[in-house]
Amino acid sequence: MTFNELSLIAPILQALETEGYKVPTPIQEKAIPIVLAQKDLLGCAQTGTGKTAAFAIPILQLLDAQHAEKAPKRIKVLILTPTRELAIQIGESFTAYGRNLKQRYAVIFGGVPQGAQVQALNRGIDILVATPGRLLDLMSQGYIHLNDIGIFVLDEADRMLDMGFIPDIERICKMVPFTRQTLFFSATMPPEIQRITDTFLHNPARIEIARQSTTAETITQYLVASSPHASEKRETLRRLMREAVD
Ligand code: AMP
Repeated sequence: MTFNELSLIAPILQALETEGYKVPTPIQEKAIPIVLAQKDLLGCAQTGTGKTAAFAIPILQLLDAQHAEKAPKRIKVLILTPTRELAIQIGESFTAYGRNLKQRYAVIFGGVPQGAQVQALNRGIDILVATPGRLLDLMSQGYIHLNDIGIFVLDEADRMLDMGFIPDIERICKMVPFTRQTLFFSATMPPEIQRITDTFLHNPARIEIARQSTTAETITQYLVASSPHASEKRETLRRLMREAVD
């Protein structure tokens, strides 16, 4: 399958070409039509499968289509992610795929002063990428309102659970409008995640993608038997390294 066959608009196809993407990954093939059809989605997929583009690309396309009718520069899409690194990566994806479109986004996370983030919010944005703590903090200060959210994305739900964010997530879920489209992504589905999924998603389409674990073709793999003793393992490793250098 090609990106063309996914009914993507020209500005996005051009951006993907600039990125050097040739074909969609399996999760993109499955998720993009579901998101474009404005259905809820439960994606069981890990980082590395291309899941960020699987939600970012159709979100950009939906926003572009609504551009004329929706209030400009009010937050219409909220993406929650557990860590600052992931938040930054998601922001970079929106820059890349949205380079030929007009949507504006901001990324907010804790552990840094809030000034620059508040300035970005005040300039007006369409898409907000946030970690839960900083989002609730800036909401309580009145800098963020979620009344116009039409699409809500929860990324890495199981890591949110590990990091103790579930009560925050539940509070936030209850504050976004009920009639939104919701997309949840999680590498695993522990019972606690299943529970919030049942509560906050409406009849979701389900996608499950296993991590691709292929090795680069240029790498030859072989097995070397060694005794379990650490000193012997070290000696085996030294010998292999000597042989590789010689
Ligand atoms: P993610 O799973 O979203 O963290 O993405 C993993 C990596 O795959 C990122 O570096 C993306 O830039 C890259 N990527 C995503 N989709 C594609 C694609 N269709 N073709 C090539 N690279 C991609």
